[in-house]
Amino acid sequence: MKQILNFINGEFVATERHFDKISPQTGQKIADVHEASKANVDAAVAAARAALNGPWGRMTVAERVQKLYAVADGINARFDEFLAAECADTGKPMSLASHIDIPRGAANFKIFADVVKNVATEFFPMETPDGKGAINYGFRAPIGVVGVICPWNLPLLLMTWKVGPALACGNTVVVKPSEETPQTAALLGEVMNAAGIPPGVYNVVHGFGPGSAGEFVTTHPQVDAITFTGETRTGEAIMKAAATGVRPVSLEMGGKNAAIVFADCDFDAAIEGTMRSVFANCGQVCLGTERVYVERPIFDKFVAALKQGAEGLKLGRPEDASTNMGTLISKEHQNKVLSYYQLAVDEGATVVTGGGVPQMPGELAGGSWIQPTIWTGLPENARVMKEEIFGPCCHISPFDSEEEVLQKANDNAYGLATAIWTRDVSRAHRVAQRMHVGLAWVNSWFLRDLRTPFGGSKLSGIGREGGVHSLEFYTELKNVCVKL
Ligand code: NAD
Repeated sequence: MKQILNFINGEFVATERHFDKISPQTGQKIADVHEASKANVDAAVAAARAALNGPWGRMTVAERVQKLYAVADGINARFDEFLAAECADTGKPMSLASHIDIPRGAANFKIFADVVKNVATEFFPMETPDGKGAINYGFRAPIGVVGVICPWNLPLLLMTWKVGPALACGNTVVVKPSEETPQTAALLGEVMNAAGIPPGVYNVVHGFGPGSAGEFVTTHPQVDAITFTGETRTGEAIMKAAATGVRPVSLEMGGKNAAIVFADCDFDAAIEGTMRSVFANCGQVCLGTERVYVERPIFDKFVAALKQGAEGLKLGRPEDASTNMGTLISKEHQNKVLSYYQLAVDEGATVVTGGGVPQMPGELAGGSWIQPTIWTGLPENARVMKEEIFGPCCHISPFDSEEEVLQKANDNAYGLATAIWTRDVSRAHRVAQRMHVGLAWVNSWFLRDLRTPFGGSKLSGIGREGGVHSLEFYTELKNVCVKL
């Protein structure tokens, strides 16, 4: 059986307690994951502190940048191994992971190396009573040892989205990958060693949340800042943990995102984009759409086209080139999504398509498969319209005016992303600016320039990461005032 070890101070560390990694495709065990104890987490944090005060802290920016380029190259050199590990852990199609997860995992190191290479700081010359003056300049120092708590939906991509900028800014990290997806974080340890990243800069501890590695990292007094992606409820617990010691947190959390489709849109583009935003990664994307509002003149046509698209999705093995939908992450998550499928019916939804579990052949019958599902007919106050489901499903509602759809789309506790489909440029800007979200797409979805700010409002998060915005979190900005 494959053994997934912790990575502490540049070495792979076995532990006594193990937990099972179950394949979401078959329901069979595929690996033994070594759970980190409190003592393992203490060792990882101590190694991170030593590296921060030692070789990593003493490196010039230029040296650090070269090392991070080497990490990106190292991921690309072992692309197929990362791809296989990510798809085995998540059940996502290789056609998706080979275009998004793994390339972005490498890109996250390159882009933030470039950001720190080119960053400018504030400079303020000032006058003084003696006429000689003074100068002020901003200086960005690393914030220290960063605890990185990761989810399972885009494991390598979202982990490196944090580790890339953290290391680029000169910090060291202790990463706690999701218990569901331990493999690529461990593999990255081998890449770090090969790239010449000093021991202790990148550490990985496996385990769960409360009473396990997640809690040990976030409550550790020697962890200086915590960056988290995951569910809002977990984010609240982490924010409480961070209050002890008044440590900064960056929280990227859930969503209940709305797409708004106006009758003047490019219809085919809106269908193609909505297909992706609802069903990509089996609906397990924080930016994904679970509420679709369609202007009444094209409502029926839109529902029919999305139904046809959903029914054309091919569920299957990740390595099969024709597969365009994989599995949910686990049986537990499948049960959660199925409970919402039942709730939608109980709340009075019309099931346009799907609503259950597909029959899969052979060993796939044991996996966490689910049907892509579309509903209509729910009232705005239904729970299915309010709560994040995180599955391949959406509800489609008709609307008659811009004011009406803005009111409905914004009436939600989350505020992560929206996609607006229209050919009217003025309306596109107006609606984008009035949506209570961190990210608004017009005539696209998931089009990402990594230099731009990324994050959510309301229950979807605190803070922005991406490009120079990541520096706000991963550095301590000090002012140096020099009397001339
Ligand atoms: P989760 O909150 O259940 O788990 C995330 C991580 O937190 C895991 O590593 C888990 O072990 C750890 N954890 C759990 N409890 C903890 C605790 N008390 N202390 C410390 N660590 C703890 O989230 P998930 O189910 O892995 O991911 C799905 C969620 O992530 C969805 O809500 C989705 O919307 C959200 N998400 C958000 C973004 C974003 O950028 N906003 C991106 C991807 C996913």
